[in-house]
Amino acid sequence: DELSRREALLLATRDLRPLTRDGIAIRLQANIDLPEEIEEARRFGAEGVGLYRSEFLYIENAPRIPTEEDHLEIYRQLAEASAPHPAIVRTYDLGGRKIAREVMETEEENPVLGLRGIRLTLARPQMFRIQLRALYRAAVHGDLWILLPMISTVQEVRRFRAFSRAVLDELARDGVAHRGDLKVGVMIEVPSAALTADLLAREVDFFAIGTNDLIQYSLAVDRNNEHVADLYQPFHPAIVRMVRFVTESAEAAGIPVSVCGEIAGDPRFAPLLLGMGIQELSMAATALPRVKQRIRTLDYLASARFARQVMDQW
Ligand code: PEP
Ligand code: MG
Repeated sequence: DELSRREALLLATRDLRPLTRDGIAIRLQANIDLPEEIEEARRFGAEGVGLYRSEFLYIENAPRIPTEEDHLEIYRQLAEASAPHPAIVRTYDLGGRKIAREVMETEEENPVLGLRGIRLTLARPQMFRIQLRALYRAAVHGDLWILLPMISTVQEVRRFRAFSRAVLDELARDGVAHRGDLKVGVMIEVPSAALTADLLAREVDFFAIGTNDLIQYSLAVDRNNEHVADLYQPFHPAIVRMVRFVTESAEAAGIPVSVCGEIAGDPRFAPLLLGMGIQELSMAATALPRVKQRIRTLDYLASARFARQVMDQW
């Protein structure tokens, strides 16, 4: 069955490195929604956590709001399990479809274009403060990076920086053990962010491309609506051009860039992703063996030629 096939593939590929035939090393990381998946990520040979969706901590416990200790406990686990690699914690991506009645306060007519991700957390400083305090405290135990969801303007990054400075001052004043030098990155998942990646790259330490939302928002196709599922096209030249621009901007600024949307875990997309200059992929742990296997059959330079064809032809 599927489970034992996976297990066999896992055993066969566990100790192989994710190298292309022409010797380019691809970093494969794990997406984590629930704490149970941390152990699985290790077992499947992930090089750290590329995306921890912290909103699940909230969703799993709702209507109870997670405490600073709840956050601290899971971030510490993530940091320790990822060592020597980093664990990237995305701050709450609530709102949109990830409804958070307890914090929304108002109804929205079009929540996917509403108070979601960084917009919501900046608007709810009391809730955000608890999460950030826990992150800075947990960073004492390992290499944690902070990832901001749904960024659509540079100003949101600057507002985050100002807010996080205040949280750090508070920790220092209270004499609480913490670290403040965490890398800060942004999700590139809104077209305005993708098309200003060169400007954003000056303000942050890394990019994580969220193709699930980038495709949805670029092609005006609800990622969960079966009636328009045939229009949900990861290969659309608009997407390929945007991702290419993001990787070029990251490269020019000297910052890392990964892809953490569903296509990262689908071996069929590996040639295009590598061809667009992606060398870091984050996916569900169970997808790692197959993607690794596919990467080992690919030629990095040939993939780049292939991506160029996709960009130019329609
Ligand atoms: C994405 O949008 O591609 C992504 C990784 O974030 P999420 O699926 O949690 O919206
Ligand atoms: Mg997203």
